[in-house]
Parts: sequence; C-alpha cells; structure tokens
Amino acid sequence: MAGFKTLDDLPADLTGKRVLVRVDLNLPMADGVATDLTRATAVAPTILELADKGAKVLLLAHFGRPKGERNSTMSLSMVQGEIERVLGREVMFIPEVAGPVVAQAVGILGPGGIGMLENTRFWHGEESNDPAFAAAIAENGDLYVNDAFSAAHRAHASTEGLAHLLPAYAGRSMEAELKALDAALGAPVRPVAAVVGGAKVSSKLAVLEHLVGQVQHLIIGGGMANTFLAARGVDVGKSLCEHDLAAQADAIMAAADASGCTVHLPYDVVVSKEFAANPASLRTCNVHEVAADEMILDVGPQAVEALADVLKTCRTLVWNGPLGAFEMSPFDEGTVALARNAAALTAEGSLVSVAGGGDTVAALNHAGVAEDFTYVSTAGGAFLEWMEGRELPGVAALTR
Ligand code: ADP
Ligand code: MG
Repeated sequence: MAGFKTLDDLPADLTGKRVLVRVDLNLPMADGVATDLTRATAVAPTILELADKGAKVLLLAHFGRPKGERNSTMSLSMVQGEIERVLGREVMFIPEVAGPVVAQAVGILGPGGIGMLENTRFWHGEESNDPAFAAAIAENGDLYVNDAFSAAHRAHASTEGLAHLLPAYAGRSMEAELKALDAALGAPVRPVAAVVGGAKVSSKLAVLEHLVGQVQHLIIGGGMANTFLAARGVDVGKSLCEHDLAAQADAIMAAADASGCTVHLPYDVVVSKEFAANPASLRTCNVHEVAADEMILDVGPQAVEALADVLKTCRTLVWNGPLGAFEMSPFDEGTVALARNAAALTAEGSLVSVAGGGDTVAALNHAGVAEDFTYVSTAGGAFLEWMEGRELPGVAALTR
C-alpha cells in the first residue's frame, strides 16, 4: 500500500493549529432526527484526539444532495446536537465553509475547540472540485485530515482538492479502513476467498471481473448465482436471473479458469413458489431440480457446508452481498450459517475477514457476527469501487 501520513505523524502539541477535518456526518434521518449514529461514532476518536492535542478542529462534511444551493432542510446544523452528544463536547456551528465568517469563528474558538462548517454541497465548487473553492476553504486551515473513507470515491473539493493545498493526513477511521482493505485485497495472506452475493450480476460485474484475478476462490451466491447457473444451462425456474448476462457470466468463469481461481456455485438451494416469509411451498433441492414455477431464494445446507470447508483452507476472506433473500425467514439461513462460520475462523485466528456493503452489514448484524469479523466497512459506494480495484481519488490524494 502506498504510504500515507496518519495522526501519528503530527506533533504532540497542536495548540492553536487550525485543522480542517473531512468527516462523514451524512446521518440517516427520520423526521429531523438521526436514526443511526454509526458514522458520527466512527469519526469521534479523530476529532477528540486532535482537540485534545490543542488543535482548533473544523469539521467539513456533506449532508444530503442540495445540488450546489443552500437548503435549510439539509443544513448540517440539523445534526449539531447529535454530534455534541457523541463527542461529549460543545460544537460551534459555523454557517459557511469559507470566508470571513469562518475566520472570525476560528478566532473565537480556543485551543481544543470544535467547529462544524456548513454542508459543503451548498456550493457548486464542492462537487466540481473547483480549485478556487478549495483554496478558499484552505485559507482557514493549517492542516487537512481526511477521516471519510465513505466519501473517498468522489473527487470533490473537501475530499480531494484540499489534500493538495494543505499538509494532508488520514484520520483514525480512514487509517483503520485502509489497513483492513489492504489486508484483504492489497497484500493479503493467501489463499484468499471472496464471497459475492446480492441481487444482480449487473450491479457487480466490475467487482466480479476484478476479483477473479485477485482471489483463489470466488464464491457466488444470492440472485447473481442464478445468472451463473443459467449460463451453465441450469433451469432456474422463476428465480431472479439476468439471462441477457449469460455471455458475461461465461466470460467471468473463463477468466477465473485462466487465472487459477475456482468459482463456487451452490449445488443445493432453498426454493419457494412465492416470495414470502415461511411459505408453504418451501423446500430444499438440488439446483438441477428447480421446478418451472419455483424461485431460488437461498443457498442450501450442503452448499453452505462445502463453502465452510473452502473457508477452512483460506487465510483471507472478503465478503460483499448476502447469499440469499436474508430479509425473510428462512432465506437468511445460508448467509447466517456461513457468516458464523467465518466469524469462528476469525476468532480462531485462521482467517482475516473483511466485509462491506449496505445489505451485507445488515445481514452480518442479523447473524450477530459483525463484531467478530476482522473489519466491517460501512462505506457503501466507496467499498464497492475499492472491490472493483479502482483507485479512490480521496485516498490517492493522501498517498501522493
Ligand atoms: P449489498 O448492499 O451488501 O451490496 P446487494 O444490495 O447487492 O448487497 O444485495 C442485497 C439484496 O439481494 C437483498 O435485498 C437480498 O434480498 C437480495 N437477494 C439475495 N439473494 C437473492 C435471491 N436468491 N433472490 C432474490 N433476491 C436476493
Ligand atoms: Mg444493497
């Protein structure tokens, strides 16, 4: 992994230094109240560490999609109270991101004071990565810290531009994420297994294409396994299946063969005639026995057992996408069983396990094992782009 500076590279005393810290405070909201504080909790250690070293901490973040215009319903002041509670400190809200109002506020903040600037996306220059906009923000900072991996796939002024204008450092959450991802796909201990599940091949073609050249075992589950099974001539009945992607599925399997990657598809599956919880028509069968009016909604128990044996031989696992329609019982069973297996191998010290993706995180929480994985990324889009092998501009700017 290319080197990047962390908070360890900063002097112990930052008294009076103005540090612009890019964080992810795009909290999910319902009726004006944040429903999940994971993102705020994740960036708290960086903010507190800088404040405790005497810095004047200026938080930079986006909130919603205001498209370059002020919008009172997307002001970051909406989450000020939540952030204060998470930090256990007072946070001064500053209704600008640049200019004299910010300069004046920074003058008022004492050493260790924390300010929160307005939603960066109220200005067009943010998403267009306008150098003049970035320069105006940089005028009120001495140092730049990026602690928002989840926004690092965007080359915006606050995620990329600023890193070129001020001495740039990765915050603690960014540092942990980059280290975990590097251990999973950058310089992993082999053999490496990847689990790719979820609904559609079309949403993860680039991920699959990249992984076959990186891992020794590619485990395909979820709806996307149906597309691969169908490409191999299996009749998947009424299952979710992208028949028009048969050629791409074949190409991925051929590329896997060429690079010594074994592709694992389920050979038994859990099927039903209706898309509902605990349906009367529920049964488990071999993939070759799916009836024309049945849907594959989970991998079967024999498949899970075989996959658990594969994981036993592996040292690294990267996982994105559930193996079945885990939101409905009992179609969560395959995902839950394999996740628990991976968690146990991780606890034994034989597996480094890294997972990410919105539904994947929900599935691991449902299985009660999110804490037991080596690392679980909540980064969504950035995590998927990283799984595609793409360079993330916000990360590249830190490692320059
Ligand atoms: P992530 O958010 O972790 O990247 P995805 O969004 O790609 O994952 O996929 C999750 C969705 O895939 C879930 O809603 C799940 O119900 C669905 N899914 C998994 N297996 C199947 C299946 N066999 N048939 C239909 N939907 C499925
Ligand atoms: Mg999803």
